[in-house]
Amino acid sequence: MSKLAANQTNEVTIRHVWEARKRIASIVNKTPILQSLVLSEKLGRPVFLKLENIHEIGAFKVRGAANKILSLSDEEKKRGVATYSTGNHGMAVAYVAKKLGIDATVCISNRVPKAKVDSLKRLGANIEIYGDSQDDAGKRCYELERERGLTVIQPFDDPDIIAGQGTIGLELLEDVPNLSNVIVPLSGGGLLSGIGLALKSSTPDVRVTGVSMEKAAVMYESLRAGRPVALPEQDTLADSLLGGIGLDNKYTFRMVKQYMDDVILIPEKEIANSMAFMMDKHRLIIEGAAATGVAAVLENKISHQDGAVAIIISGQNVDLSVLVQVIQQYQN
Ligand SMILES: *Cc1c(COP(=O)(O)O)cnc(C)c1O
Repeated sequence: MSKLAANQTNEVTIRHVWEARKRIASIVNKTPILQSLVLSEKLGRPVFLKLENIHEIGAFKVRGAANKILSLSDEEKKRGVATYSTGNHGMAVAYVAKKLGIDATVCISNRVPKAKVDSLKRLGANIEIYGDSQDDAGKRCYELERERGLTVIQPFDDPDIIAGQGTIGLELLEDVPNLSNVIVPLSGGGLLSGIGLALKSSTPDVRVTGVSMEKAAVMYESLRAGRPVALPEQDTLADSLLGGIGLDNKYTFRMVKQYMDDVILIPEKEIANSMAFMMDKHRLIIEGAAATGVAAVLENKISHQDGAVAIIISGQNVDLSVLVQVIQQYQN
């Protein structure tokens, strides 16, 4: 294959993002932006919150899942889809599949808490319990792919997922005047790759800042090492940012390297305080992963520039017991 042809099949382009936008419009609503007066005052620049928490499943992942599942052939749709994520990606896959009348199977280990299993069942997913680790559940998922022809929907390292998340970037360009810096929670990097691609294709000067928790920031460590690395998981309030990037990563490692201008790691205490801050000042419940972006502004960690800042409020799925704890520790 010529180099050009290889690029054409391997590269996610802005055109994919525009196509995704059209494709997902029937399932995913455009989300609002809200100017945070408190944060704007603090930073001396307009700060906008992109409310990706208000999707029905409480997180942006519905964008990528919708784009991927809607792109499958009729035959693939008939056979059904599978995932082994029990977090926001699993919920997104189940939700989209249900909307489209497609069978979704979520493979889980027998250690997954009942509350999570119940919410997946409520979304109509078939639950396949197997082994006692996430790895076992993953293996089962790929077995189902071979045995029954189910399509495994990847959480981030897939062009259709990346393009779906990228639709957030198109909406930001339309809605945020004088945008100069976007702050994006970073785990596997599907969200940052998509938004970075969408923004830099038309406005290369917009600064893209990644934010992760200090503990087990796998993409951060991988970039430092110059190749994907694996790290043991640790307890963190930003639980949606946990997980590896895949040692055979095909897209997001490269794209994050290309599009991310800087990265900030946030300690647990600041994540907790930012969650409480959002309840106190905006009456918004956000999960730890989303609070990393708020912390970057609240704790004055972003480099100074003119123009508006947008924070991606990526999700709101957090247990009440955790909220009680962060409110008790709140220092304003
Ligand atoms: C998945 C997720 C992220 C990170 O997205 P990646 O594409 O894995 O980098 C951030 N916030 C929330 C709430 C998520 O569910």
